[in-house]
Amino acid sequence: MILTEGSGKWASVKGESGEQGVKIYNVMGDIPKPLWIEFPVGTTLQTILKEVQDAKDIIAAEVGGATEVLISKDQFNKPIGFGRGKLNGVGSIVLISKKRDLLRLYHEKMEFMEEESCTQCVPCRDGSKRMNVFLQDLMKGKKPGKDSFDCMKLVAEAAELTAICAHGKALGSLYKNILKTAQKYQKK
Ligand code: SF4
Repeated sequence: MILTEGSGKWASVKGESGEQGVKIYNVMGDIPKPLWIEFPVGTTLQTILKEVQDAKDIIAAEVGGATEVLISKDQFNKPIGFGRGKLNGVGSIVLISKKRDLLRLYHEKMEFMEEESCTQCVPCRDGSKRMNVFLQDLMKGKKPGKDSFDCMKLVAEAAELTAICAHGKALGSLYKNILKTAQKYQKK
């Protein structure tokens, strides 16, 4: 838009949540070809999806990068932008179709988190390792007891409260989301 209509127009465009400016989003994942798409800041994922051809059976998405939780379809109406209540607007959107196993995806994310930890903080260093074991057990069909869920919930809270950097604080939300997904998985 800057190239075709100038920076004045760019700055005055408003998204669905009232934020100003436009942004280029990289949409990838379960679509035949990744693409770059321009929308106002504050646009919802459901609006963006209307423009993404061949996005079929999308049930979840990772909006904003590897440390973000996997959001389910009922959250696609949240604006993508900056600030409380919004999905992270840095520009990365990974679409996840129903053919994926969300626990497996979370396990891959946690392996990455374990590798990324600089090992200074316990809930990040040991929490990510413990969460990986928890997920592996679950995927092998072993049922974790209530104690395991309660223990991981405490680790999530500890990560949010005590991790030194943003990586560890983000892990708190990730752990909590994994536990919610795991509980649904157990009920199947
Ligand atoms: S939270 Fe940050 S500082 Fe702490 S171990 Fe993890 S990466 Fe290192």
